[in-house]
Amino acid sequence: MLSELLTTELDNKKVLILDTAAASQNYGQTTFSPQLVIDAAVIVLDESVIGKLLTLANRYSFCIYPISSGKNWGYGSFQFQSSSKPKVVLDLSKLKKITSTDKKLGLITLQPGVTQQDLYEFLSKNNWPYMTPVTGAGPSCSIVSNALERGYGITPRTDHFAAVNALKAYIPHPEHCETRYESAISALDSSKEDFIDKTFKWGLGPYLDGIFSQSNLGIVSEMTIRLAPLPKNFCSFYIKVPNHSNFPNAIELIRDTLQQFEGTVGSINLMDRRRLVSMTSKNPNGPATHATMTEQQVLQLAKSNQLPEWMIVGSIYGDSKIVQATKKFILKRANNLGTVYFSDSLLMKFVNRVLSLPLPQIEILTTLREQMKSLQEGTDIMLGKPNQIALPLAYWRNPRVFPDKSILLNPAKDGCGLLWYAPLIPMKTASLENFIQFVRTICPKYQIEPLITFTNLRHDCIDATVPIVFNLEDKDACDAAHSCLNELINAGLEFGFVPYRLNTGQQQKMDFKPVFWQTVKLIKESLDPNNILHPGRYSPHNIKS
Ligand SMILES: Cc1cc2nc3c(=O)[nH]c(=O)nc-3n(C[C@H](O)[C@H](O)[C@H](O)COP(=O)(O)OP(=O)(O)OC[C@H]3O[C@@H](n4cnc5c(N)ncnc54)[C@H](O)[C@@H]3O)c2cc1C
Repeated sequence: MLSELLTTELDNKKVLILDTAAASQNYGQTTFSPQLVIDAAVIVLDESVIGKLLTLANRYSFCIYPISSGKNWGYGSFQFQSSSKPKVVLDLSKLKKITSTDKKLGLITLQPGVTQQDLYEFLSKNNWPYMTPVTGAGPSCSIVSNALERGYGITPRTDHFAAVNALKAYIPHPEHCETRYESAISALDSSKEDFIDKTFKWGLGPYLDGIFSQSNLGIVSEMTIRLAPLPKNFCSFYIKVPNHSNFPNAIELIRDTLQQFEGTVGSINLMDRRRLVSMTSKNPNGPATHATMTEQQVLQLAKSNQLPEWMIVGSIYGDSKIVQATKKFILKRANNLGTVYFSDSLLMKFVNRVLSLPLPQIEILTTLREQMKSLQEGTDIMLGKPNQIALPLAYWRNPRVFPDKSILLNPAKDGCGLLWYAPLIPMKTASLENFIQFVRTICPKYQIEPLITFTNLRHDCIDATVPIVFNLEDKDACDAAHSCLNELINAGLEFGFVPYRLNTGQQQKMDFKPVFWQTVKLIKESLDPNNILHPGRYSPHNIKS
């Protein structure tokens, strides 16, 4: 058995080995497929075994699937369809070393197991005036793997791979797999400090660090990232846009704010009414029902929670003068657009103060208290304090588990059904209008709720995230969800809506004929001639080996 071979070959002080049953039980759940069968898992306790494991995989012909936290909910952590060889999960979550590269400069070096919560606690405990690059996936997710997925987050360092200055890795080539890959700058630096590499992203010669993101070309064992400083002042803003007729103005406001206040304003989210309802209400059809809310249900829930047709949410970071100037700009531009709320306004402070008093338990106060609590969680996350505010979304159609945010949530282990449609959309009103119609036509055909969020990463770049939420236990619902995503992806390409990230199934449905993917294939064949590292992850599967 593979687990026995691994137990014999690897130093048992440096690893824990799981057999097929335990490995499948621990890592096999996804939010969109039946449980995966995993032949074995190696939990790494010491980085030095990574190279040895690659040697064994080359020698005994099995495949390695690295994970840092294994919580790629909605996308999947393992591309298993592309190889018939035995499959070994390489779990790096116990590698939790945090090295202070330079506290003053905000440079920090992390092993793959460091989660958002670990980093947040480290920064707080050691008084670092910097923010953790948090995401909606919450406290238990690794910083390294999110950057490798080219995920994005909420603090001003929105683009997580862009904030990676340096990394170390192991490539799968049988002759080089036991020597740690480092950049040319690291190799040339004789000072023994290896500091300068960690300050300069591009290195020297071809930029190779990038090939380790969204790929299967190496196992990253350490990463240095540039943190965003905690601002002297901070304020979040919420603009309720009551009518769709104002949508073009909302887009203009977002674009101009991001262009003029780059670095001061983080990413801006624009959410539609249905999405807001899904965040603030229980599913009125019950979680087991595979049906969308009627327009009437949406309007009713929106009315009782005072939700607008569109809501803009953003954050301002800077000293008090900068924050005030930005607020002034937003207020002026939002005139005629809708109602603007700032988190530091006197009104908000007053409401918070009143709600902290021992008032009677009447419904309106309870609702208001809940809303203020969500606002506070929203503010916390914008300041780099991880929380689970976004995770209940995954449970919208989960008939078994109610998301209790007081414990650590895990949508895959809780049996949630979730897929993401995450295309980039041209920053043009006509394209965005087109996209809204497109999603609102296709999703309901499959009884999938069309929930729209536009995340404006830059003034010229919008990523839409449409969560496809379904009951994973219901086979028809599961099939409908996959068909819905298929149609969204394929039909969307015709309009120029191109995904920035794909789930493990979709990764193999791509057309690999273009020269881009043929280049990936050539690189893969030369770095991994035996095709042992995560075959098929963002790469053609028909590798010569
Ligand atoms: C409600 C909700 C909200 C979410 N919000 C966000 C969000 O705001 N932003 C966002 O980006 N995502 C979001 N996600 C998606 C996802 O859960 C996160 O991106 C999560 O961080 C990815 O999982 P992970 O970090 O555990 O990666 P893993 O599952 O550990 O890894 C992901 C992939 O990277 C590869 N990999 C991991 N570590 C290494 C390594 N050391 N070397 C080489 N390859 C490696 C793995 O092989 C795997 O295929 C959200 C999900 C949900 C359910």
